[in-house]
Amino acid sequence: MNKEEKNKKIAQRRQATYKRHSSMICKTYEIKAVSSKLNSEQKQSLNQYFKEAKWLRNFHIAHGFDRNLRDIKEIEVKVGKTLENRSLSILGSQVKQDIFDNLISELRSLSSNKKQGNKVGKLKYKSVCNMLPLRQYGTTYKIDFYHNRIKVQNIKKPFYVKGLKQIPEEADITNAKLVRKASGLYFYITCYEKPKIKVITNRQIGIDFGIKDNLTLSDGLTFNIKVKENETIKRLSKKLNRTFIKYGKKYSRNHRKLKGKLKVAYEKLTNQKKDQTNKVVHFLLNNYDFIAMQDEMIANWHSGLFGKQVQHSSMGFIKAKLKNSSKVHVVETSFPSTQICPICGSLTKHPLNKRDYDCKACGYHHDSRDIKSAQSILDYVLMMS
Ligand SMILES: [Zn+2]
Repeated sequence: MNKEEKNKKIAQRRQATYKRHSSMICKTYEIKAVSSKLNSEQKQSLNQYFKEAKWLRNFHIAHGFDRNLRDIKEIEVKVGKTLENRSLSILGSQVKQDIFDNLISELRSLSSNKKQGNKVGKLKYKSVCNMLPLRQYGTTYKIDFYHNRIKVQNIKKPFYVKGLKQIPEEADITNAKLVRKASGLYFYITCYEKPKIKVITNRQIGIDFGIKDNLTLSDGLTFNIKVKENETIKRLSKKLNRTFIKYGKKYSRNHRKLKGKLKVAYEKLTNQKKDQTNKVVHFLLNNYDFIAMQDEMIANWHSGLFGKQVQHSSMGFIKAKLKNSSKVHVVETSFPSTQICPICGSLTKHPLNKRDYDCKACGYHHDSRDIKSAQSILDYVLMMS
């Protein structure tokens, strides 16, 4: 195959990819490299990578963005007042090209900004570079989903990373950026995904947020967010108290260490909670097309398992998420959903411990006051809309 044919093939493939991606959703995932697992070879290589990227960038700015110099092997670097030759040892030709292309797109956005009448400067030299473009999946970087590793070209040991589970199996992985931050090393991976097909269920539902069950639906389903304070937290809290008393100093090293551990344990708990609430929201939005709920006060809620706060924030979180959906209709706080009778419209106050509903005016009875309340909320929204 000659060069011309090869270029034609590449162009065709690019066009096909572009066409396929145009109907998909573009998403970027943040994947963090676990810093405690970095070895010295990885650290050195990374430093070299970012250093060479900086040299190359500054070189192109100084030499007027010459396409023919994209794959340059050795460049002059300013050291103090003199110039010294340095070879680019770690940057592969693909990454060099990506750095060049990135610069060109930066230039383009500058010039289009200028055309719009904005005042723009020139591309500036950088003294540090903290971003590396990795544009060709499979060449400049590879992902091993099974072992949670990302391999970067010319760095021997793959990086152990966290967060790969976010990327769906059927996603089309394209380019990535490797970014160095104060908090660590990150991969930003861009994927294309098929948009989810919207299911029309024609199902309507009312939701009652309550004390006995966190959520009661008008069709009788109930949901509860259950997160138990685990043994680790109990043990650590006890220990923490002891160190505090023992040393009397607020910032003893042991105390600080324990505090860090406790923080991690609580973070885990929060994640469990988030996971559960997300599942509930997901279920509701996927199974019903028309959702009615009331934005009632939950300040005076109390609950068993893990105290006020967990339940509180979970319910608040669910409500906030639901409110963002166009499927959800919110009834004002003043609507007496728990008291109103669906038959005659009279209001009957019930004590909190009474779990069924009885209308004092017409004698209507429902076995569950929560389900009745959810139904009343739905009826009210349907009547008003
Ligand atoms: Zn009644």
